[in-house]
This record gives sequence, structure tokens and C-alpha cells, in this order.
Amino acid sequence: MMPARHYSPQRQQRNPLGHLDRARLPSPAEFYGDELDSLKGAGTWRDALCPFHGDKRPSLRVNVHTGAYRCMACGEGGSDLIAFLRRRDGLSFRDACRRLGCWVEGVAWK
Ligand SMILES: [Zn+2]
Repeated sequence: MMPARHYSPQRQQRNPLGHLDRARLPSPAEFYGDELDSLKGAGTWRDALCPFHGDKRPSLRVNVHTGAYRCMACGEGGSDLIAFLRRRDGLSFRDACRRLGCWVEGVAWK
């Protein structure tokens, strides 16, 4: 395969599977505010009850700028909202992106 000489956005739009558009990701602060009703704190890293284990006091730390999360009790962690949804709801990468509204559907080949 020859490397493409010029990057072409049109090429990506013709991908039949679609693609992720990170610009359409929701704000991590809003997302975690809705999904984790126990969200506490005011800084970049906030605390919440961990949905990955039977948490009794907030062990989950979430970054409201990047969406990264890490549980100090069970060790569950990831780098963004997509990783969080995939793990929590058992979704594929594409379905997690669709739920977040950041998946651009592809166009089937003719
Ligand atoms: Zn946990």
C-alpha cells in the first residue's frame, strides 16, 4: 500500500463504517454530572460513587476536562468518556460513540 500523499477528509467520509468526531463529544463535566448523581467537588478531579463495584463512599475520581476516570478502590480506570461508557454498559467502541453523539455514520459502498 502506498502512503497517501495528501490527507483527504472526503476519504474518511466514505468509510462505510463511519468515524469518531471528537469535537462532538459532550462536556465531561455535564456527562458525569448527569451519569453520576453523587458527583462532588469543584476542581478538575471530582469524586463520585464508583459504578464498577459496590461503592459505599466515593472512590471514583473523574477528570471533568478530559473525561478520564480512576477508581481508588477497585482500580477501574480509563482515559475518556468513550472508555467509561464501554466499560460500564458493555458497549462496543462504535455504540459508545453513538450514545455520546460523536459517531459520524458512514456511507455504504455502492
Ligand atoms: Zn470501583
